[in-house]
Amino acid sequence: MKFGTYVFEPEKAEGFDFHLLRIKTEVGKRIPPQPDMHSNIAVFADNVAARGNTGWTSQSPLGPARMGNNNYNIYWDTVCATQPEHRAEQLNYIEDIDKHSPGVWLNSFYFADHGHCTCSRCQELWKKSGLSWVEWHKKEITDYISQVRDRVKKELILCIQPDPVSSLERYGVDFDELAKYADAFNVVMFSKNYATPWYWEMLSRNFKKLLKKPMYISLYVFGPGDDPKDVPTPSELLTVSVRCARAGIDGILYLTGDAGQIGDFQKEAVGKVELRERLKSYGGQPVQEVLDLVKGWEKIVQ
Ligand SMILES: [Zn+2]
Repeated sequence: MKFGTYVFEPEKAEGFDFHLLRIKTEVGKRIPPQPDMHSNIAVFADNVAARGNTGWTSQSPLGPARMGNNNYNIYWDTVCATQPEHRAEQLNYIEDIDKHSPGVWLNSFYFADHGHCTCSRCQELWKKSGLSWVEWHKKEITDYISQVRDRVKKELILCIQPDPVSSLERYGVDFDELAKYADAFNVVMFSKNYATPWYWEMLSRNFKKLLKKPMYISLYVFGPGDDPKDVPTPSELLTVSVRCARAGIDGILYLTGDAGQIGDFQKEAVGKVELRERLKSYGGQPVQEVLDLVKGWEKIVQ
């Protein structure tokens, strides 16, 4: 297994195999890529592009993909996935970023959610295609990712929603089609707590069965602006890491705002001596790899 940090600031915490930097987040903010950190880009979720261009926001019978539309689990504004200028600009951007960092990890490269997008361009494209609504969604997203693949010469990782069953209908995401282009998948399993690790372990098993490429999962540690009372405990994070590891995943990323918050997590995890001992009985080699990772942090946090 490989272990990475997933951060908003260009800082590398010690004790991990690699680092993923959020160089373009869903709010549309961009920061420069780093030569020794992988680049994470949100493609269609982009407040800057959606708010700066009339008619670009994805539409649906339940309203637009806009922050505040509580019909959807969307905390930002999302551009229609067929918007040609945004598509072209993002392709060029992704190609440039690939040249300046070791790999590109894409978020939000798909339709906003179920019922999207019903803008006049999408209606017209769908009718012209002669395909069913779902098949047309799949084609639009798969074709776009094939264009991305032509531009990305290094590693391309596709970050997907933690929905093993309905991702095709909701987002146009077909795991088998996308596996032809992706080097790996990253299942984003962010939660403000992992009090019931059973569910996350089950999701890991579901995805491991479905995905035809290696898969990472991403766990939430401490987001920018979070209250320490509202984030997962180190014990929850250790336990869920071990339980997902034994489901056969290929790696785990830990999300924080910056490297200092990763350091805080490492220190607290190292301090959970009894739990670390107990978790040894939770499985075989993959469990041991998580526990060895934490053991390796002992030297760093002293
Ligand atoms: Zn549209």
